[in-house]
Amino acid sequence: MTEQRNAAGAAVGGSFCFDNSWVRDLPGSYVAQAPDAAPDPQLVCLNTDLARDLGVDPQLLSANPGWFAGGAQPPGAAPVALAYAGHQFGGFSPQLGDGRAHLLGEHIAPDGRRWDIQLKGSGRTPFSRGGDGKAALGPMLREYLISEAMAALGVPTTRSLAVALTGEEVRRESGRLPGAVVCRVASSHLRVGSFQFWSARGDLAQLGALADYAIARHDPDLLGRDDRVLAFFDRVVSRQCALVAQWMGLGFVHGVMNTDNVTISGETIDYGPCAFVEAYAPGAVFSSIDRQGRYALGNQPLILGWNMARLAEALVPLIPGEAEATVERLNDRLGAIAGQYQAAWVSVMRAKLGLAGAQPDDAALIDDLLAAMVGADWTLTLRRLADAARGTEASLRPLFDDFARMEAWLPRWRARLAPDAAAAMRAVNPLIIPRNHKVEEALQAADTGDLAPFHALLAQVTDPFRDGPGREAYALPAPAGFGDYVTFCGT
Ligand code: AMP
Ligand code: MG
Repeated sequence: MTEQRNAAGAAVGGSFCFDNSWVRDLPGSYVAQAPDAAPDPQLVCLNTDLARDLGVDPQLLSANPGWFAGGAQPPGAAPVALAYAGHQFGGFSPQLGDGRAHLLGEHIAPDGRRWDIQLKGSGRTPFSRGGDGKAALGPMLREYLISEAMAALGVPTTRSLAVALTGEEVRRESGRLPGAVVCRVASSHLRVGSFQFWSARGDLAQLGALADYAIARHDPDLLGRDDRVLAFFDRVVSRQCALVAQWMGLGFVHGVMNTDNVTISGETIDYGPCAFVEAYAPGAVFSSIDRQGRYALGNQPLILGWNMARLAEALVPLIPGEAEATVERLNDRLGAIAGQYQAAWVSVMRAKLGLAGAQPDDAALIDDLLAAMVGADWTLTLRRLADAARGTEASLRPLFDDFARMEAWLPRWRARLAPDAAAAMRAVNPLIIPRNHKVEEALQAADTGDLAPFHALLAQVTDPFRDGPGREAYALPAPAGFGDYVTFCGT
């Protein structure tokens, strides 16, 4: 196979163009491990737009389903399982690592950007512990669907390039299910837990190498500065504040904000038990194992701060100066996160509400909206505020059991509304999110071999801001009979 490259050595329209810096620069932080062979690889979906953005030929990819099911590797791949640690629901595990994922390598796109190409569900690794290393089709399609919806919604996220059936069945509580692999594309798989891995072992040489690697990859302008680790920490905090503010604006509950699922890049990662809230409730929780509501919708900003404190702890030994002074500097920063998050959140909501400029009491206006919205559909209320911006609030009324508080709030909002705000509001308040009942309907059909509902839903959720005929069925909340929605981790 001939690879086509441009003058910078990057792929153009051919195969992946791998340059595997993790393997080269971070020995000890991974284990070389090939994905399992797949008896009958079959692509069920391929993200041709993403392939083109990456400078990879979609036809070449469809001709090689084995690359995505795990049985064969694209030229230049050097598959590894990454080592990391993590706090899971508050408890520390010094060794987690990729238990069912294989980083194939880093692809250099024609624009020079570096992308991790990873398979998930591709077999056991030394980090699998009791797990089978596999994944069922439903959860892999779920990751594909929701990550691509998030990308279309403008949220930083890992992407999904493909889902492939392996031809094997996997055993799960619900019985035997078709086995599948998702191919994830990320600006890196560096996470808070990557730092905790070396910090917990007290290996400062490895920790320092990891930090410099992360800085080179995500914040190269900081390289060479004495205060680079502290500045890097600030960057991670900013990215995470911006990210969680966007989640909150969409009513997105990540569901498993363990430190191994918090990226350095600020991309959303690990679409396991996540879901979008319908009736707004700060206590909304979907994950079957989150019994205390640690990762409830309204707790996400607090958990963000908690996770950043764990990153700060891991980085302390790398920051020059007296330990006591370093801890004080980090504590000052940790104390400032709540305010930083609040600023990011208010800025997200100003755009969603179409406010003119910024006023000091915007935060109170937003808080009062939230109090009035409890129980109303989050997505539709915000979308229909764009109608109200043009005059009529008739479409809002049916979303509320009791409209009185909202009715009292609307004039205050109107007084702050920018002229001609409706179009801009529609561009940031989606009509379509992945509604839980539609997701379940699509995944259940996929399990029986019918992928039509999945592809129809994917087309809707990746085009979230447009009004149009035929979209109502995707825009409305679950019928009452759907009941409480429960999601599962690591399935
Ligand atoms: P998660 O909650 O998906 O972030 O996963 C937490 C840890 O469990 C990670 O180290 C995963 O690699 C591992 N894991 C999840 N599912 C499996 C599985 N089926 N087999 C092996 N390891 C798994
Ligand atoms: Mg994870």
